[in-house]
Amino acid sequence: MSEKSGIVILGIFAADTAYKAKRLPYIAETLMGSGFTLGPGGKGSNQAIAAARAGGKVTFISRVGNDPFGEMAIAAYAAAGVKANVMKMEGASTGAAFIFVDEVSGDNAIIVVPGAAGLIGIEDVDANRSEIERAAIFMTQLEQPLEAAMHALSIAKKAGATTIFNPAPAHAIPDSIYGLCDFIVPNEVEAAELVGHAIETDEQARAAADILLKRGARAAIITLGARGALYHTAGHSEFVPAFSAGIAIDTTGAGDAFLGGFATATSEGRAPVEAVRYGCATAAIAVTRPGTAPAMPSRVEIEALLR
Ligand code: ADP
Repeated sequence: MSEKSGIVILGIFAADTAYKAKRLPYIAETLMGSGFTLGPGGKGSNQAIAAARAGGKVTFISRVGNDPFGEMAIAAYAAAGVKANVMKMEGASTGAAFIFVDEVSGDNAIIVVPGAAGLIGIEDVDANRSEIERAAIFMTQLEQPLEAAMHALSIAKKAGATTIFNPAPAHAIPDSIYGLCDFIVPNEVEAAELVGHAIETDEQARAAADILLKRGARAAIITLGARGALYHTAGHSEFVPAFSAGIAIDTTGAGDAFLGGFATATSEGRAPVEAVRYGCATAAIAVTRPGTAPAMPSRVEIEALLR
């Protein structure tokens, strides 16, 4: 049997379209805005691009529509060196997020239409079964239907891959998923939702991580924004501080950058705490740049910050 290698990620792509104006529009109003940006988004997609930019060998499993946003996704994977096992569907649109931004308060209102990505199912996982079985690392989130994530995690786990589960966005999950996770990686909000208590102190973070372990995860990593991340497993618990790579101007996608860097470092056999440091360094650079996928740093940049 050939050696296991590479990172396989299941997730969604959504084109983020952001419209800025002095305030949010009222019903039936047409409001003139002051800015527009279009960028690739979707947690799994961002994580795949982050991991590939960090030097990982990445395959991304997803669905897009046969439309210009779908082309944009495929072009982003080609540019980042991600192998795109992405089905181009007829009859469904590519995932898209419509984001209104109030330029004065920073408030936003968002509509996300997953489109083709909302139809990801067990059959997409089965079509990629041998690739998942050969992977050293399998990673997924909760933006596509839960049953696809669970099915893929069980195949990966059974085949002996290291599994990374990012329970985002916050969503109720069955207890049976925890035993499929070598690493469960929520942010503070998601962890609070999973365990039912707020995470404001180090003790609360440790207590939450303990609960995730008791439910069956082998290790828990709770990302704590500008404070860094907690790595917690039986017999070892450590807070890894965030790095500073300049002024943080856009922290959207920080978690995705972290996961991409963490997955790549883990795929190279680095010890978990070292991989968490690698993830923190990746995210620290990403937050100094606008956007999500386009903000992901290269391996050279990450290594320079770690030195
Ligand atoms: P999410 O984007 O899912 O909300 P977090 O905000 O917890 O996730 O951020 C993920 C990781 O990104 C953190 O563990 C940290 O390493 C890094 N990070 C986030 N914000 C900053 C920041 N302002 N400066 C440096 N690193 C940051």
